[in-house]
Amino acid sequence: MTKPAYKRVLLKLSGEALMGDDPFGINRATIERMVADVAEISRLGVELAIVIGGGNIFRGVAPGAQGMDRATADYMGMLATVMNSLALADAMRQIGITARVMSAIAIDQVVEPYVRPKALQYLEEGKVVVFAAGTGNPFFTTDTAAALRGSEIGAEIVLKATKVDGVYTADPKKDANATRFSTISFDEAISRHLQVMDATAFALCRDQKLPIKVFSIVKPGALKNVIMGEDEGTLVHV
Ligand code: UDP
Repeated sequence: MTKPAYKRVLLKLSGEALMGDDPFGINRATIERMVADVAEISRLGVELAIVIGGGNIFRGVAPGAQGMDRATADYMGMLATVMNSLALADAMRQIGITARVMSAIAIDQVVEPYVRPKALQYLEEGKVVVFAAGTGNPFFTTDTAAALRGSEIGAEIVLKATKVDGVYTADPKKDANATRFSTISFDEAISRHLQVMDATAFALCRDQKLPIKVFSIVKPGALKNVIMGEDEGTLVHV
């Protein structure tokens, strides 16, 4: 059997990917399928860290949050990612994958705090590490947390799982002629004004020469294909 293309990766899952077809929250069948994909690559011996967003939960409370102070709303968003991280880790536990949740915000009774050497140790032990609470700072996103933690742990690549199966020349929902890039450089993505990750996350990956792979979270087998180095999604390279 061919070997995985990577030894250590940072997987970014959007919170909204957990909703499935529901309007918000966590869809049981969806999280189980997602975790089965993750388990498959963890069992291949790939060291795996995950950053998950909070959009699925925060969307549910967003109408009530209107007019709120931005920083306070962002802290709520970060707490939403803690809930998703706990759900993800528990779903992994149920299928025999050991996961550790580490939070960027101290909530010691619930999850352990993020400590870089500890995270590295867990990865070396083959445990899946879920980084919760984003960067711990308002005005940032979980994409930026993915770029940051990916850089910190020395991941070879950030895998950005989205509803779209890659980076397109234009929005495929609006333009039927849009085509997908198999690979694209950071510079070309900037010059073509393509949105791969938010600007802060994108700049950090570019500075750190940390490639990004954008691929579909919905397509069965896509994560495994990415891990095996196949032509899946879009590779954003230096
Ligand atoms: N957030 C934040 N700082 C961070 C990461 C996240 O303030 O470092 C907040 C922010 O309000 C964001 C929310 O948490 O909207 C959920 O994260 P994100 O929108 O990245 O989740 P996703 O869209 O991927 O589900």
